[in-house]
Amino acid sequence: MPEVTSYYEDSLDQKKAYPPMLGDQRADICIVGAGYTGLSSALHLAERGYSVIVVEAESVGFGASGRNGGHVGIGQRKDQYYLEKQFGKQIARGLWDMGLEAVDTVKQLIDKHQIHCDLKQGILHLAHRSKYCGELEEEVEYLRDNYQFDQMEYVAPGALPNFLDSQAYYGAQWDQASLHLHPLKYAQGLAEAATKAGVTIFEQSPVLSYSQGRSVVVRTAEGSVTANEMILACNGYIEKLEPRINGYIMPINNFVIATEPLSEELARAVSAKDTAMQDTRFVINYWKLSADNRLIFGGGENYRRGFPRDIKGFVRKYMLQIYPQLENSKIDYGWGGTLAITLNRMPHFGRIGDNIWHLQGYSGHGVPTATLAGKLIAEAISGKLERFDLISNLPTRKFPGGTLLRWPGMVAGMLYFALRDRI
Ligand SMILES: Cc1cc2nc3c(=O)[nH]c(=O)nc-3n(C[C@H](O)[C@H](O)[C@H](O)COP(=O)(O)OP(=O)(O)OC[C@H]3O[C@@H](n4cnc5c(N)ncnc54)[C@H](O)[C@@H]3O)c2cc1C
Repeated sequence: MPEVTSYYEDSLDQKKAYPPMLGDQRADICIVGAGYTGLSSALHLAERGYSVIVVEAESVGFGASGRNGGHVGIGQRKDQYYLEKQFGKQIARGLWDMGLEAVDTVKQLIDKHQIHCDLKQGILHLAHRSKYCGELEEEVEYLRDNYQFDQMEYVAPGALPNFLDSQAYYGAQWDQASLHLHPLKYAQGLAEAATKAGVTIFEQSPVLSYSQGRSVVVRTAEGSVTANEMILACNGYIEKLEPRINGYIMPINNFVIATEPLSEELARAVSAKDTAMQDTRFVINYWKLSADNRLIFGGGENYRRGFPRDIKGFVRKYMLQIYPQLENSKIDYGWGGTLAITLNRMPHFGRIGDNIWHLQGYSGHGVPTATLAGKLIAEAISGKLERFDLISNLPTRKFPGGTLLRWPGMVAGMLYFALRDRI
């Protein structure tokens, strides 16, 4: 996979490095992976008094957590209609409350630990076909009537110019409870907060294997951790480390570009109120302005191992369909990342035996949900399983065909929906 520097890496004030793991270590909990899942779990567990070691193959935020769109959306990846139908009203209500708590948890962590990550308010959900306007408007009313949620309003076509200068959309939902941020600064901030709470982080230390008995022994090339419990927080990067959970997720690659800093006039045309935006496509287009007025635009994905050779060109065409006025704006950065989706698009949490836990499969909604996952696993390991189990008990299935054969059928399906989007 070609390594590309993202705008996020280049715009860090400073990048703190952690040493590789050497020799034999001991901890109450060993966490594999230093994205939001691993870091939030480490922080919440350390605050409860556990000794925690995080082992990361590359560097903090190397995975999706340092590469994503930075949208911190309320709710779950699936809407409340789907959740009510699939799981019943009571569970749907619990999941809705957790969605709000997840966004709130991100905000509280940022406030408490003084994480400077360009946090801003608001996401606009845009209808790319007129037939979706009715659905967006109905949903606003449904959430108000059934979930007492009054921080979302419908934006009629005539009012869209208050938000953006584009002919590509027909209406929108203006969600003022959601947030957006600089994802890598947020990951780095979580890592710093965790280390201040006593967590040890090792970078450049791929976990090669582990054995499970009364303790778990986690091995890298040059060291090991013996721990009472282990948390797998590898998400789309897990590869073959744990075949027992592999079949429940499908890794997909998604791509992002950053323009050069835009003039004030162009920046206001892109997002007049400096909100984040995303649309109703199956392969979602999503964007926001950076602190220095670049357009950070995500669009397009693939379902194979490699990234496209020309990520900038691959994503730019989607950007220009929305903002042709950016024809002459230079694209300074293009990068990709891997996320994990599940069949029902709900997170996949669980336990293997007594002392290995896994948290994965946020299906593109991981900035808030992976953060909350850390809080839920800390509760679970401390003996309060109810909230963790609300998610771990959701009925879920492996991708058809298991680990080896899940690709051809799934990929064909994803490509079909992606193509339908673009026609
Ligand atoms: C391009 C893109 C855009 C996205 N946009 C959004 C968005 O706007 N909003 C949103 O909510 N979600 C978004 N997502 C999804 C979100 O980023 C993820 O759900 C979330 O970051 C997952 O966090 P994580 O900690 O579980 O996984 P990751 O951040 O992927 O972390 C996993 C870590 O595990 C490490 N690892 C793997 N195997 C090993 C091993 N054997 N040994 C040691 N370490 C290992 C990896 O190196 C990696 O650092 C996006 C994802 C991508 C890729």
